[in-house]
Amino acid sequence: MAKIKMVTPIVEMDGDEMTRIIWKWIKDILILPYVDLKTIYFDLGLQNREATKDQVTIDSANAANEYGVAVKCATITPNAQRVQEYNLSTMWKSPNGTIRAIMDGTVFRAPIMVKGIVPYIPTWEKPIVIARHAYGDIYKDVEGYVKKGGKAKLLLEDEDGQREIEIFDFKKSGGVVMGMHNVDASISSFARACFNYALDTKKDLWFNAKDTISKTYDHRFKDIFNEIYENEYKAKFEEAGITYFYTLIDDAVARIVRSNGGMIWACKNYDGDVMSDMVATAFGSLAMMSSVLVSPTGKYEYEAAHGTVTRHYYKYLKGEQTSTNPVATIYAWSGALRKRGEFDNLPELQAFADKLEKATIQTIEDGYMTGDLAALYKGENEVHKLLTEDFLKKIAEKL
Ligand code: NAP
Ligand code: MG
Repeated sequence: MAKIKMVTPIVEMDGDEMTRIIWKWIKDILILPYVDLKTIYFDLGLQNREATKDQVTIDSANAANEYGVAVKCATITPNAQRVQEYNLSTMWKSPNGTIRAIMDGTVFRAPIMVKGIVPYIPTWEKPIVIARHAYGDIYKDVEGYVKKGGKAKLLLEDEDGQREIEIFDFKKSGGVVMGMHNVDASISSFARACFNYALDTKKDLWFNAKDTISKTYDHRFKDIFNEIYENEYKAKFEEAGITYFYTLIDDAVARIVRSNGGMIWACKNYDGDVMSDMVATAFGSLAMMSSVLVSPTGKYEYEAAHGTVTRHYYKYLKGEQTSTNPVATIYAWSGALRKRGEFDNLPELQAFADKLEKATIQTIEDGYMTGDLAALYKGENEVHKLLTEDFLKKIAEKL
């Protein structure tokens, strides 16, 4: 069989630990035999980030913006223990944070659904995609404690002059105060990323805030989404047969629980933090979540939602074999290959991505899976718990 040709390279961001091992296996077993793979390779492994003073992360993010499609392996975000373990000169920043800042993107996370792995909410038949705003609010707040008898005021200063708003008069008791912000530019980028992703995946978009209570702050989010929708996306949504729906966050939660899934659920930063963990847990496992960062200009970076699976890596280093789930990393590759095929008009490459995902799902549905899934499986087939490499070979047979 002739290998499938590519035109433009994918930006490849290699990573750390167990996922770095799996990265190579996926390429060797599932991609290189079928695709004449073209990538521009960046080694984001912690040793190389140290050696390049983290320049490699910045270069890779710039390349993602230039070429339009990237695929990223999970990477270590160093803490004090990692600084010792890897003898680092400094505690390098989270690569995901650096890449997100350069691409100015929104992260979309969707569960990968398989027959036999039943969500805790059984009516959720279709995946729920969470889009989380990744800037501001309480993650960039300032806080303080005011003693009894004190006062807290908000001082606003702009070209119209100064305005002072009393927050609270702590006459009878001391208490806490918080100041937080967001910016129109970031909210607009978030809104456009959500609208583009909805069009791209042909899914309805839901957005929610608490504008009845927060009449300026949350209302601003609602207004910006609404204005961008009316001016730039309404016609495109109607043509695609999808809808944009705004509601209050509490109403959204109630409706989501009663729904069959299938929508993109756009959330403010804190709401997204909480709701993405709820959705991931309810659907079964972080190793069965796909994740993609989409920039407002339509550049894509695909990754797995989980980390480098350190505990399994230490076993691997001792020569033990592990049953680490590679599905989210396979989906990062298939997502990137499909998007590259779409941009370069290569139907064969797009079809390959579809077949790779289908073979992965069917292999699990036939009863062949890694240990984490074997523990959750409630299907009809006999369960075969496989080591990671054997699972990948089983998928290759199907493919
Ligand atoms: P983790 O790597 O996601 O693993 C936590 C635990 O979840 C594992 O020990 C394992 O449980 C289970 N697990 C996660 N992925 C799995 C998979 N593919 N197959 C089977 N089981 C899986 O999180 P962590 O241990 O908190 O973090 C490890 C490193 O990853 C850290 O250095 C962190 O900075 C980094 N990290 C990177 C990213 C990213 O690059 N996107 C995201 C999160 C964390 P059992 O041990 O019970 O089998
Ligand atoms: Mg969280």
